[in-house]
Amino acid sequence: MSSASSLDAISSLCKRRGFIFHSSEIYGGINGFWDYGPLGCEMKRNIKEDWWRATVRNREDVAGLDATIIMHPAIWKASGHLDTFSDPMCTCKGCKKLMRADQIWDILRDGAIGESLAGVLEGGADAAKVAGWCKGKAKGLAPNLKAVLDPEALTAAFGKIKAAPEEYADTERLYALLADAGGAVTPCPYCGGELTEPRPFNLMFKTVVGPVDDPANVAYLRPETAQAIFAQFQNVLATSRQQVPFGIAQMGKSFRNEVTPRNYTFRSREFEQMELEFFIRPDEAVELICGKVTRMADKPDLGAPAASWGWEVWHKYWVEQRKAWIIACGLPADSFVEYWQKPDELAHYARACVDIEYSFPFGVQELEGIAARSDFDLSQHQKHSGKSMEVFDEQLKLAAAKLDDAARQAFSDKVAGEWAARGKAEDAARAFVLKLFDGRYVPHVIEPSAGVDRMMLALLCNAYEEQKLTDDKGKEDTRVVMHFSPRVAPVKVAVFPLVKNKPEVYNRAREVFGRLRKRYAAFWDEGGAIGRRYRRQDEIGTPWCVTIDFQTLEDGTVTVRDRDTMLQERVTLEQLEEKIDAVLIY
Ligand code: ATP
Repeated sequence: MSSASSLDAISSLCKRRGFIFHSSEIYGGINGFWDYGPLGCEMKRNIKEDWWRATVRNREDVAGLDATIIMHPAIWKASGHLDTFSDPMCTCKGCKKLMRADQIWDILRDGAIGESLAGVLEGGADAAKVAGWCKGKAKGLAPNLKAVLDPEALTAAFGKIKAAPEEYADTERLYALLADAGGAVTPCPYCGGELTEPRPFNLMFKTVVGPVDDPANVAYLRPETAQAIFAQFQNVLATSRQQVPFGIAQMGKSFRNEVTPRNYTFRSREFEQMELEFFIRPDEAVELICGKVTRMADKPDLGAPAASWGWEVWHKYWVEQRKAWIIACGLPADSFVEYWQKPDELAHYARACVDIEYSFPFGVQELEGIAARSDFDLSQHQKHSGKSMEVFDEQLKLAAAKLDDAARQAFSDKVAGEWAARGKAEDAARAFVLKLFDGRYVPHVIEPSAGVDRMMLALLCNAYEEQKLTDDKGKEDTRVVMHFSPRVAPVKVAVFPLVKNKPEVYNRAREVFGRLRKRYAAFWDEGGAIGRRYRRQDEIGTPWCVTIDFQTLEDGTVTVRDRDTMLQERVTLEQLEEKIDAVLIY
């Protein structure tokens, strides 16, 4: 199955079985917005609860937060979102469509023009074939393409292809040539027209707070959940009995007015994030307290956080934690990669950033990111709000008190030298060191930032399988099965009465269902042959199906059938619960 058709098959299953619907579908839908149906919302909830459990409940060093979506607009000024949270965007002078400048070639390749050109290029670039395309199909597909509108442009392109066909054997090169014989123009991927220069387009949705529609009342829907964590940092610190290193986690809706929402739910305009800000001591504070800073070169045991860890180790620790969670949710380790951003790709304040990229049917794309953001965010809010974001660290103060004047001077000189090497002012370094001696600093932060919808899409893509089966009589059949991990599966167990017209069996099955649903998301199905019922559950990824039959009335045992192996075994209800708990309780 091609990647496009597998995404089509998945999205059609999601619609048919109630995982995901297009928002406002009865009015033709709204681009970039998706609704989660009965099964989808269960599964999404499972993902979020699992993240919350792994990130907050199962740890002693992370506290939670649930902040508002609309916040004081000054937050977005301080964070930099008002000035810089934008994508470069082009407009087509022909069809007037807007698109992200960095996605033009992706849109071309995935769209009707790209598909058609790929057909023309089968077996290489042939000038006559290309000319035929421009005079035929392209009139409908790319009516604003120069070589379609202007015979002279077509003649020039024809000559170039004839002279060097190998240069134009690729869709992008050929399309650019057909837009301009010099090959310097990027044409519109929807119609071939000329594009404007890229211009920044702010991705934040604006709204007005209060009854007066005045610029003074403009506010924004949050484009990420993280900023509220920084803004509430001191309140959480004061009330949670936490000390650095510790984290604050939040999940919830975020909004981005994406220029070209695409690839199903992958790039939506309304989506959910699960974000953690894990605050750590600056390396200089670690050095004063521990006398050294552990770095990755020291090969630390990443399973045992230590006071001497510097930012580099904490960052790697969180990369490993996040990968372990992704794997536990059911994505195999070989289905995603760690992409370490290159120095020139990093934001100016970031020290490192890793993207976890999953191999989606439409390409290897970011699932989540883990960034080491220094003290940038808290410092920005300190500067803009005038409120201190410093913490007092008793251990640091005690450690500094042990230094004599010469040792203090030597430490200050060392830090000033290190900062200077990173292009930072000596004065600032010395002021920072004086604060450290007083036990004070603005914490640094490691930020694992994940998208609920992207995780769900990756899980859907990974789980989908069409199996060709042959029954005992040699009859061929296709079984669609979602191999969800039981942790995220929307329904954990389905309960079937073998027959519905025998009250003893039926009532016993209802009893079993009543017992199981108190513990697990359970589903009742009494309709049709058992085999058909199994298939319906396979298609929504239910790991276990339980059938109550006449033997249940005699010895209390039920049949449990495993989704992946399709094997059945007879067990007591206690054994069944033990079996399920062994997977779901962790
Ligand atoms: P991209 O480069 O794909 O736009 P990003 O680097 O801007 O993503 P972040 O700002 O780091 O993304 O957001 C953190 C996470 O939030 C992403 O890894 C992704 O899982 C999720 N996310 C961001 N934008 C969207 C979106 N438009 N739709 C769905 N999920 C999103």
